[in-house]
Amino acid sequence: MIDQSANGPANGAPPRQSATVMKCLQLKQPGSLIPTHTALPQPGPGEVLLRVTRCALCRTDAKMFAQGHRDLTLPRVLGHEICGVEVATGQRYAVWPGSSCGSCTQCRNGRENLCRQMQILGFHRNGGLAEFVAVPRTSLIPLPADLPDALACLAEPLACALNAIEQTNLRGGQKLLIYGAGPVGLLMAMAATARGAATWMSERSDSKLKRSDQFRKGLNIASHDNRSDLAFDAVINAAPAREAISAGIKRLTTAGCYCVFSGITNAAAIPVEVINEIHYRQLRMVGAYGCTSSQLQEAVTLLWNHRARVNLLIERHIGLNEVEDALRQILAGKTLKFVVKLA
Ligand SMILES: [Zn+2]
Ligand SMILES: [Zn+2]
Repeated sequence: MIDQSANGPANGAPPRQSATVMKCLQLKQPGSLIPTHTALPQPGPGEVLLRVTRCALCRTDAKMFAQGHRDLTLPRVLGHEICGVEVATGQRYAVWPGSSCGSCTQCRNGRENLCRQMQILGFHRNGGLAEFVAVPRTSLIPLPADLPDALACLAEPLACALNAIEQTNLRGGQKLLIYGAGPVGLLMAMAATARGAATWMSERSDSKLKRSDQFRKGLNIASHDNRSDLAFDAVINAAPAREAISAGIKRLTTAGCYCVFSGITNAAAIPVEVINEIHYRQLRMVGAYGCTSSQLQEAVTLLWNHRARVNLLIERHIGLNEVEDALRQILAGKTLKFVVKLA
């Protein structure tokens, strides 16, 4: 399914940068995604110019397209799941989409994803739905030669999943329940299994369960519906349904941990009995947002280990002109991963 023919320059030769103008997709305002030509981005101090080869789409892109996002400033070139080639050297990289200050308390404690001065590609600055992107050199994660570009794009969502798992302090031998068998839930299940956790998934769409059957079976991941007697050490929501919060808290073992990984779509009060359950059973609630560059590095290794399996998560390779339609399909919630081919 992966097109191996466009994995960067042949024989490691640097790609030519003769163009001064590039194609990109600009979100002018929610609902208005415009194909356009702009000047090539000018790398600032400490930055490099990448030719984007692949950029994957996720639910956050779809949400930004449909309704905006807390961290989105417009107009913007979206795209934060990026694989590209450094124009000057021909080296291939996955990109940590953040750019943090490096000196605040969060940065000094290894939580640069929480830096208050964070600038995220595709959110605060132009991202990967373009032929070229300017990226801080410190954000570049080198890739093993036999990891295809389309799979390297998945390092970013996988790193976000790793961040969520880390927040729960899940250990080998413990039980994890993930709500939502979309691409990021499935990547999370793969990462948890790799850490020795026993993993279950809850998904209300039969078609989604069916589509991920082969992926889940290969990792021994079951739907939990036939084992409602189980209690879990950790629960993570990888779906925006608010029901997953209350239902998941009830599924925790005493002193277990719930990680809010996905924002929820509709505001809803958590019932008082659920709050009291957190109190009496000494449960922990934690959040997870984004990922650190070291988690992205770990994700690249994990992807390489599972490269045949991860291929199953790709719905389709598309062009820039198909992005809007793909985002609408992502919003409908029935698809796996779309990867945009840019070079
Ligand atoms: Zn994403
Ligand atoms: Zn900082």
